[in-house]
Amino acid sequence: NSNRSKMPQYPGLERWILVEKMGDGAFSNVYRAKDSTTEYGEVAIKVVRKFEMNSNQVGWPAGLFPFYLSLVISVCCKRANILKEVQIMRNLDHPNIVKLIDFSESRQYYYIILELCPGGELFHQIVRLTYFSEDLSRHVITQVAKAIEYLHETSGVVHRDIKPENLLFYPVPFVPSQRPKPKQPGDEEKEDEGEFIPGLGSGGIGKIKIADFGLSKVIWDSQTMTPCGTVGYTAPEIVKDERYSKSVDMWAMGCVLYTLLCGFPPFYDESIQVLTEKVARGQYTFLSPWWDDISKSAQDLISHLLTVDPEKRYTIKEFLDHPWIRQTDEETTAAA
Ligand code: ADP
Ligand code: MG
Repeated sequence: NSNRSKMPQYPGLERWILVEKMGDGAFSNVYRAKDSTTEYGEVAIKVVRKFEMNSNQVGWPAGLFPFYLSLVISVCCKRANILKEVQIMRNLDHPNIVKLIDFSESRQYYYIILELCPGGELFHQIVRLTYFSEDLSRHVITQVAKAIEYLHETSGVVHRDIKPENLLFYPVPFVPSQRPKPKQPGDEEKEDEGEFIPGLGSGGIGKIKIADFGLSKVIWDSQTMTPCGTVGYTAPEIVKDERYSKSVDMWAMGCVLYTLLCGFPPFYDESIQVLTEKVARGQYTFLSPWWDDISKSAQDLISHLLTVDPEKRYTIKEFLDHPWIRQTDEETTAAA
């Protein structure tokens, strides 16, 4: 296979056969891979280079330190971040969260072996379909919400990087083409191979899974049910801090839901400065004509998520209780 011979070879990954590159993250390359011993089916492997200057990860202005010192700091930060990402994922077990299969490292790379989501990013589906119907959007965001509920209420984890690029999915296994291709002479014997058509038939768009715990944080220990690092002496600002960090994910869910429904994000500007101002003020609109036919109930839910004051913003419980979300449960149980 010509494609396979173009795949890079990584030391320590001999057990896996890299099939194709699936994603270019900011800090990583992600490949689809097969197990040469067939113990697992296919997996995704996130390969992170250990020695790479990345002032983003250091978080201090470039030029503050001499280059070699910045490099040392960057490498140490990266190690700590990867180990944290892996440690957090190790403790998670939910159908809507990508599972960690294994972690290893060589001299130059970290390898995070993950459950494969063959459908790729939700982002690409938004681009492809322009926007989602209300039913399909609800189907997607409810799954994201179930994962967030598990993170916030059961695991004490905040994700902090919820966005369409980090929401992956399993497509519907097979949907026959709605418009059969005109038959060519000679391919009579060929079956309709079908194609992936997102819709609400046979399980909607498939299963949505949250990926990328690179920015996530543990806010309390799920074993002891206490805030991290403190036992019994928790100051009010820590409790508040916990609530604030959870509300970060809720804001992001509001942005995702908005984008699903109309195909463009709630906040946008060519200038980063103007954009930042708009976000800070919570300055967005349900732009006509794109939002004219979208239900008031959906808009109400979004406005409770895109609320600037984190104290007033919906929690995951309130989100799941909203009539627009609950609509689905009744419908799907009625249909089942
Ligand atoms: P980064 O921290 O660099 O953003 P991610 O974990 O988000 O890394 O992975 C980058 C991209 O790789 C994702 O946006 C997605 O396109 C792809 N990807 C990551 N994990 C998987 C997976 N388990 N299955 C399929 N594709 C994945
Ligand atoms: Mg990512």
